[in-house]
Amino acid sequence: MSEATPRVAIVTGAARGIGAATAQRLAADGHAVAVLDLDEANTKETVQAIEAAGGTALGVGADVSDAEQVQAAVDRVAAELGPPVVLINNAGVTRDNMLFKMTEVDWDVVMNVHLRGAFLMARACQKYMVDATFGRIVNLSSVSALGNRGQANYSTAKAGLQGFTKTLAIELGKFGVTANAIAPGFIQTEMTKATAERLGIAFDDFIKGAASQIPVARVGQPEDIAHLVSFFVSEGAGFVSGQVVYAAGGPRA
Ligand code: NAP
Repeated sequence: MSEATPRVAIVTGAARGIGAATAQRLAADGHAVAVLDLDEANTKETVQAIEAAGGTALGVGADVSDAEQVQAAVDRVAAELGPPVVLINNAGVTRDNMLFKMTEVDWDVVMNVHLRGAFLMARACQKYMVDATFGRIVNLSSVSALGNRGQANYSTAKAGLQGFTKTLAIELGKFGVTANAIAPGFIQTEMTKATAERLGIAFDDFIKGAASQIPVARVGQPEDIAHLVSFFVSEGAGFVSGQVVYAAGGPRA
């Protein structure tokens, strides 16, 4: 199914996981997609998958927490694909530790990628959205925003992204720009695999254990989140803004 109006979208952290599935979904919806990740070489697989399916993609390397790299990346997307009016702030990292063991670096890295990154990307893209009187911003929060043992840094950043989302919705609404957040529960990706490894649990067992606690009796897949992103980005979703949707297979995180 193609969108009525093809747009240019940037998906950060799109080399793999939720970002890769989202980039592929937006391309299938008819948008040209900038597949942004730390290392441009790592974006190849996602770009090739989009092109193989008949879509348009551009691989871009940038650290979202670096202002100069963000500006250069957004300038490049605008020059090579067109004005980026859809932004999915998905890049993320974890540096889990109990508070008493958490280092300043653990704290700063997580704040910088999630919060500074989303801020820098949104600031660099907003003028294209305002000029077009159309924009869609989707920020990846998490059920961890409600509090999660061992994630003082990550839960703070993910809660912060919810406030950021609501403020963008208020500031940019009159320009036709919506901002929404998705707070996923357990999604099967390299990120949750790394968590299983850290806890010394086989990934399959970790997945089974998580699924047993989830009402729909399975863990989430990246495509589950991509589907929700596709809705928020769609033309018809223009009256939905400043919302946080928990996509966790049930009512409670
Ligand atoms: P993932 O598989 O670890 O993928 C994250 C991607 O972000 C990686 O390709 C990573 O690149 C990239 N990245 C990290 N730091 C970056 C930076 N500074 N600049 C640009 N790209 C950067 O993670 P995921 O599970 O798909 O998660 C995607 C988003 O959903 C994250 O924001 C995460 O917090 C959120 N989320 C995930 C879950 C879950 O259960 N998986 C649940 C709730 C929320 P490198 O590989 O080069 O580091």
